[in-house]
Amino acid sequence: MQMNAHPTLPEFDYVRPETLAEASKFLALHPDEARPFLGGTDIFVRMRNGSLALKFLVDLKKLDGTNDLRFDPHVGLTLGAAVNMNRVINSPDVSRHYPLLAEACRSVASYQLRTRATIVGNICNASPAGDTIGACMVFDGMLHVHGTGGQRQEPLASFFLGPGKTTLKPGDIVTAVTFPLPSGDCAGTYLKLGRNKLSDLSIVGVTVLASPYSSLPSGFRFRIVLASVAPVPLVAADAEAALAERAITSESLHQAASLAGDASAPIDDVRSTARYRKLMVRNLTEIALNIVWKKMQK
Ligand SMILES: Cc1cc2nc3c(=O)[nH]c(=O)nc-3n(C[C@H](O)[C@H](O)[C@H](O)COP(=O)(O)OP(=O)(O)OC[C@H]3O[C@@H](n4cnc5c(N)ncnc54)[C@H](O)[C@@H]3O)c2cc1C
Repeated sequence: MQMNAHPTLPEFDYVRPETLAEASKFLALHPDEARPFLGGTDIFVRMRNGSLALKFLVDLKKLDGTNDLRFDPHVGLTLGAAVNMNRVINSPDVSRHYPLLAEACRSVASYQLRTRATIVGNICNASPAGDTIGACMVFDGMLHVHGTGGQRQEPLASFFLGPGKTTLKPGDIVTAVTFPLPSGDCAGTYLKLGRNKLSDLSIVGVTVLASPYSSLPSGFRFRIVLASVAPVPLVAADAEAALAERAITSESLHQAASLAGDASAPIDDVRSTARYRKLMVRNLTEIALNIVWKKMQK
């Protein structure tokens, strides 16, 4: 990749549409020159380091519904695209029904960054290292997308195509992510391994959510999503299946962690070697499964 770093942001035109229709139309008309933004904590960095050259940045923060943070006990949670991570962390409804979402947000950088950074930005950036994506996936997140053809919904599970690549087309805007009501007895955790405790992307991230599920042989459904160990956020499907089939014991948790390690396909990069990542997937998944299993016993 040709990099042409700037000491400050390069010049661009700031565009603030009044309506979603106007925003989608503008973005579709300028597919190579315009991008939408929310907090700007990913896109500004890429423009400054020269990996992205744009003529227009389209601010979505004032658009219809993008600031909604709503919980309905019959339907679940709606997070508007522009809701920043600190709002998520401070929401009593999130703390009560989706504490894992707040835990994942707290793992992102610093308080200051989280006043700008959004969950939807984290998702749309489509980095395999995105810290909040695993929690959104285990809660069965559904994206609400406005495009030139109107509104549609896309499950998060099939949204990621590769690093920085998603199913979004020019003109598409994610307006919100919604989550169904989780089981009242579920428990989860997010374990993040970084090079330091603050402001670093993950070397490995492990999200686990478990809920009682009487129709499965084990009586429990475990969801496991791994960050930074594959081109997209990775569902450890074999590990999940193993935990559905067998009684939950320290041995079955150990075996599932091993299957998660086998499923990972990490690369060497500035943060870690692939070998270290694979070993850490095993270790962290086993720790995370045991933490969650212990919470389920209470
Ligand atoms: C110092 C620093 C530390 C960081 N630490 C972490 C960390 O610990 N963990 C982590 O996961 N990330 C980290 N990040 C990355 C970043 O903060 C997060 O990915 C954040 O959630 C992005 O949200 P945003 O609202 O700022 O996105 P933006 O930068 O506004 O947008 C991100 C991307 O999504 C697209 N986009 C935005 N909104 C929409 C939309 N509604 N519809 C369609 N496309 C859209 C944009 O065009 C852009 O490509 C860090 C960044 C910095 C600068």
